[in-house]
Amino acid sequence: MHSMGQDEFISIHCHFCNKAFHGRYAKYNLKRHFMIHRGEKPFMCPYCSHRANQKGNLKYHILSAHPGQADIKHIERTQSDNKTTKI
Ligand SMILES: [Zn+2]
Ligand SMILES: [Zn+2]
Repeated sequence: MHSMGQDEFISIHCHFCNKAFHGRYAKYNLKRHFMIHRGEKPFMCPYCSHRANQKGNLKYHILSAHPGQADIKHIERTQSDNKTTKI
């Protein structure tokens, strides 16, 4: 099955958790994996392992748990990334 070409060597990273997927089913596996993020708590705190199901909740968590290093712009960017990778 060498005729499938470069698809077999494709490598994609999840935008949310940076998990890598390789091989010809990478896109499919990423799609499936992405359901975790879409499903419940897609917003990850950039400073700890906290997760939130809504952007507002994560914003609140960062402001209360990580005062001083709050980078709200990071969250905004994460959300716009989510829009472009709409499945
Ligand atoms: Zn992920
Ligand atoms: Zn945190």
